Amino acid sequence: MLTIAVSKGRIYEEALPLLAEAGIVPVDDPEKCRKLILRTSRDDVHLVIIRATDVPTFVEYGAADMGIAGKDVLLEHGAESLYEPLDLKIACCKLMTAAHKDAPIHRGRIRVATKYVKTAHRYFAGKGIQAEIIKLYGSMELAPLVGLADCIVDLVDTGNTLKANDLEPRELIMNISSRLVVNKAAMKMKNQAIASLLDQLEKTLANR
Ligand code: AMP
Repeated sequence: MLTIAVSKGRIYEEALPLLAEAGIVPVDDPEKCRKLILRTSRDDVHLVIIRATDVPTFVEYGAADMGIAGKDVLLEHGAESLYEPLDLKIACCKLMTAAHKDAPIHRGRIRVATKYVKTAHRYFAGKGIQAEIIKLYGSMELAPLVGLADCIVDLVDTGNTLKANDLEPRELIMNISSRLVVNKAAMKMKNQAIASLLDQLEKTLANR
């Protein structure tokens, strides 16, 4: 049995066609049923659809053999304990700093609101900028508007969310896409099943 943990929402939606091409189609609809473990068209594959930030944890501890998560989440988790064999090139976006469109470029110590505390810390430290990082769990865009922070670090796709809140993208930290991650022990113990799925996904990606 292979268990694949998939991030809820956009990543799950974009992973579905990819998984389908590898012969994995969920039998249960997570929107309609309350099941947490979804059966699929393959008797030997189950999906668990969970919060993005929990995917690396499930895979690291072997609760799932494989996972699909954004590079942003993997960077923040510190995913050295996982194999990351495939860039699935889905849910693509950019991890950026953003600030109010009229805000000056700060030279001194800055306050940054983000849910990516470790990544932001690393980024500003790497640039020699003193940054006080304020952890938020959502609605980061609000922070510069109410004086909580000088800037934010968040994912940007179309830029519409920033624009709607009078913010603008400033610096690109990293291009982000979803990755397939594999538990290290599972890679050995279930090598045949995992290798064959990786192979199928790789072929599908090459043909896209
Ligand atoms: P947009 O307005 O299209 O730039 O999207 C920005 C909003 O969507 C922000 O709240 C982001 O956190 C979120 N977002 C954008 N791309 C992704 C992604 N690939 N995965 C998860 N959240 C995303």
